[in-house]
Amino acid sequence: MKVTADQNICASSGQCVALAPRVFDQRDEDGVVVVLDENPPEELAEALRQAERVCPSGAIKIVEE
Ligand code: SF4
Repeated sequence: MKVTADQNICASSGQCVALAPRVFDQRDEDGVVVVLDENPPEELAEALRQAERVCPSGAIKIVEE
């Protein structure tokens, strides 16, 4: 699976980091999302789909391959 997060629309809310801290982080200066692993293991799929659902700005996209 492939994970992307659009830094231009991220609202710095942090739900993604709470749900999947191995995949998402936030920049120290402004809290904008950073993707740590663009090709995460399948075991994280459910947490990542949840992050995609709850992200308030719609910044996260999960593409199943
Ligand atoms: S949940 Fe969405 S808006 Fe919040 S930090 Fe993550 S990508 Fe940004």
